[in-house]
Amino acid sequence: MIGGIVTTVTVAALALLGMLLGGWLWWVVRHGRPSRQRPPVLLYHKVTPRFDLSGTWTTPRQFEGHLRYLSAAGYRSMTLSEFYSNLEAGNPFPPRYVVVTFDDAYDTVFEHAFPLLQAYGFAATVFVIAGFVGRSNTWDVGIPWWRSNHLGWDELAEMVAGGCSVGSHTVTHMDLTRASTERAGEELSASKQMLEERLGVPVEFLSYPFGRYDERVVRLAKEAGYRGAVSSYPRARTSEDDPFALGRMGIYIIDTLADFKIKANNGANLFLFGLEEMKGRVINFCSLGTSLVKPDPSCPAPRARLRERLD
Ligand SMILES: [Zn+2]
Repeated sequence: MIGGIVTTVTVAALALLGMLLGGWLWWVVRHGRPSRQRPPVLLYHKVTPRFDLSGTWTTPRQFEGHLRYLSAAGYRSMTLSEFYSNLEAGNPFPPRYVVVTFDDAYDTVFEHAFPLLQAYGFAATVFVIAGFVGRSNTWDVGIPWWRSNHLGWDELAEMVAGGCSVGSHTVTHMDLTRASTERAGEELSASKQMLEERLGVPVEFLSYPFGRYDERVVRLAKEAGYRGAVSSYPRARTSEDDPFALGRMGIYIIDTLADFKIKANNGANLFLFGLEEMKGRVINFCSLGTSLVKPDPSCPAPRARLRERLD
């Protein structure tokens, strides 16, 4: 009887291991091996002690744990601009660096993450939805009475003065691949212009909403004057060092410190890194629901209407 149970458990464990190994092999064949040559670019969203339905949040305690680990392990931060300078020059990257980015520019980033970044001496780039500065996140699907607020202009200016960089996350956080060419172009150029005018700093980089881009969107981003653009999980890892499709590792509430270390070490353990990446891709895929549920984004939005949202 006991022998039978042991055999069943052993067979089940071997089957699970086989599935994981098989899945991982398929993943590596499909997406390629991670590049250990460059620093990991970390992607955060909200940093809040409050429960959030999105799954893409991190608690301040977790975030401090990440910075404490990085600091103790001898990591330093590299700004996105420094990262691109290296990439563009084709120089090898120095070891033990990370790039920290935040998408959506929620007020919790100012409240909880910014003081910790300063305390640990880490720089970060915040990707701002220009049409939602100081407003609640009505661009996202969700429960109407459970909304989150975006950073205001004064807070953004304070973060810039404190050494953080600002990038564009478009005007309205729309899936650019589903927008008309005119609308997508406006989302890209109007957001860049507005952020530069209001904050008095160059806005060199773009983060594609939902990490979604295609050839047309990349062309429009170049035409709008961006130096580079980040995604979350590009389709093929061979495009990882593409300056207009830079991959990032998402950090989520379900990540333990051990998970974070695997991500920060950028593929030091290929198998575990692959599993983390699979997890990230699944979470990222789920966030696409917003773009599909929102009203038809292909409707043209003339410059005046986008301007209205910006003022
Ligand atoms: Zn976003």
